[in-house]
Amino acid sequence: MKKKPLLVVISSPSGTGKTTICKKILKKHPQYVRSVSFTTRERRKGEVNGRDYHFVNKDRFEKMKKRKQFAEWACVYGNYYGTPKRSIEKAKRQNKTLIMVIDVQGGSAIKRLYPESVLIFMLPPSLGELKRRLKIRATNKKDDLEKRLKSALKEISFWSNYDYVLVNSDLNQTVRDVENIISAEKRKAKRFDINIWGRGQDKWRG
Ligand code: ADP
Ligand code: 5GP
Repeated sequence: MKKKPLLVVISSPSGTGKTTICKKILKKHPQYVRSVSFTTRERRKGEVNGRDYHFVNKDRFEKMKKRKQFAEWACVYGNYYGTPKRSIEKAKRQNKTLIMVIDVQGGSAIKRLYPESVLIFMLPPSLGELKRRLKIRATNKKDDLEKRLKSALKEISFWSNYDYVLVNSDLNQTVRDVENIISAEKRKAKRFDINIWGRGQDKWRG
């Protein structure tokens, strides 16, 4: 019997801090993997192609869509984003914990496709603080920032579709909260493989 890998989705209004938190978690747990999405949005300063996203043009994205290479895709703030099916397939093959940092449409799609996935929703401490964080990141054009702020309330209304809700006030505390959720989810009885445990018991059977 093969164990199911843990699929973790993290969503939040843009600027809340989910990417920062995911990076910190991957640094502390190099055995976890992150799904690198494809996007048609422009690369921000400091982002690396293939590490943060696969940056592609609209043509290439459309081709991948037609070839059904995405597990899910969505248009977010005027750009296209998609989770490659192969990230999920690879994590399943290798029985790895996979983290997907995607929007609320993507979160709903992943839950439909993989009901055993674990969905974490992150909130900023306040809308004022969200604006401040978006401004600090500040590679956005002004209209983009407005677009992201305007969408925040609509995105927040999806919170009840998620399994967990965290308020990202203190960065290190939120990192610990996500680590604790993953740790508890991995220990759920439905993910325990009694056959693997049983193999180690042969020598005691006499
Ligand atoms: P998201 O991926 O949700 O769009 P980012 O991870 O890019 O957000 O974070 C947006 C900004 O907020 C970054 O400048 C990041 O350093 C900052 N940030 C993240 N978490 C916190 C926090 N708990 N307190 C203060 N600033 C934070
Ligand atoms: P950003 O441009 O700030 O990197 O991302 C904008 C939004 O798109 C964020 O909510 C981010 O999580 C989301 N996103 C990133 N990749 C994907 C993806 O593959 N699918 C979906 N549905 N959303 C994504």
